[in-house]
Amino acid sequence: MTSLSFNFSSADRLTQQVEEQFDAELARLRDLVAIPSVAWESFDLSQVERSALKVQELALEAGFEQVEILRASYGQGKEGMPAVVAQKPAAEGYPTFLLYAHHDVQPAGDPALWETEPFEATRVGDRLFGRGTADDKAGIMVHLAAVRALWQVLGEDFKVGVTLFIEGEEEAGSPSFEAFLETYRQKLAADYIVVADSANWKEGVPALTTGLRGVISADISVRVASHAVHSGMFGGPLLDAPTVLVQLLASLHDSQGSVAVEGLIHAPEPEVEYNTEDFRRDSGILPSMKLAGRGSLTSRLWAQPALSLIGMDITPVDSSSNTIAASARARISLRLAPGQDPAQAHLFLEKHLEAQNIHGAQLTYQAIDSGQPYQAELEGEGAQLALAALEEAWGLEAVATGMGGSIPFIASFKEAYPQAQILITGVEDPDTRAHSANESLYLPDFKKAIVAEAIMLAAKS
Ligand SMILES: [Zn+2]
Repeated sequence: MTSLSFNFSSADRLTQQVEEQFDAELARLRDLVAIPSVAWESFDLSQVERSALKVQELALEAGFEQVEILRASYGQGKEGMPAVVAQKPAAEGYPTFLLYAHHDVQPAGDPALWETEPFEATRVGDRLFGRGTADDKAGIMVHLAAVRALWQVLGEDFKVGVTLFIEGEEEAGSPSFEAFLETYRQKLAADYIVVADSANWKEGVPALTTGLRGVISADISVRVASHAVHSGMFGGPLLDAPTVLVQLLASLHDSQGSVAVEGLIHAPEPEVEYNTEDFRRDSGILPSMKLAGRGSLTSRLWAQPALSLIGMDITPVDSSSNTIAASARARISLRLAPGQDPAQAHLFLEKHLEAQNIHGAQLTYQAIDSGQPYQAELEGEGAQLALAALEEAWGLEAVATGMGGSIPFIASFKEAYPQAQILITGVEDPDTRAHSANESLYLPDFKKAIVAEAIMLAAKS
């Protein structure tokens, strides 16, 4: 797949070095996982401060001399969560790599669903279980371990510049991200941006993520009457608001389960295919359920829009009575194919709902969120370097994959540093269950990810 050639002459020494230091890296990862650093306002935010301090300590230990904890102001006098920024300047004439990961995590969710303690990294076979073991505390450790190995093996010949940037609010939607790039634009400037927050193709098969879907969300409210009334007295001519709303929502998909909103685009067909049995196993879909949509599974996951109903405000069953509800509200989330403009997608969605509002309800569409999709230039030197380094570390050709999820800040990086090449790597795999109970990291691939990153930086040193 790769057409350029790179100097990987230190690959064997780096591989051996990573092997030697690996147990210590795992211990450091366990320390990070032990801190429940959820950056949501309803959680104990002092834990995010603790994890920032821990990352700072680990960065100093890895050999960085200058390590700062920084934050940016945004909105009306709000302060972002603490990010850790460490710098090793480039030798004259050598490029700089910005290494990104995040130290905040998703909440653990229902503890009953976990088979191990969420904030106590627990090894079972080849996997390490715990919240953040993969997303994204392993990403932090890939960067730190690679840098440590490079100092050990290359010493003075470790010439590329490295800027470590560990964000503290990714799972909270990165509210101060753009302000942060604005405030520290000079400090974070780089030739390559390595984002270690994505996934490999499957256990044992490396991938570079070259496409990301965008995402928008919106609230749809309907009102059918000025107040709720008795269904015995008015039911018949007056439809209740939830019924009108679910009819509207049902119109968003066609009978095969493809999104039916006119104007939404599909990106080109991906080169790889996701095996149907693998998808069924990884997703937990019931055997009786048909797979929705059309085209290859990878196209449906990466290159087509996907719409989910993620919340609804109607009367809960336990407090229901024979009443015709006057209003109802739903929140939908719409994933967008690479190439789709989020602002346009909002317009298409709103237009669709207005056209489908056949009963004449008072309809309100409120845009909540917008995240840009992303498409990498696969032919670029950076992407070629990353693919070659992954292949070298795994001894196996790397797959260029799309990703169904979205990393909206990638577009912010692209905007702030148009010249930089963005390389999206990661340690997750289809069974990682990021954001869900029993999140885990596949350790053999974690080790290889460290080697690959070290090889990549060495090739430019
Ligand atoms: Zn993440």
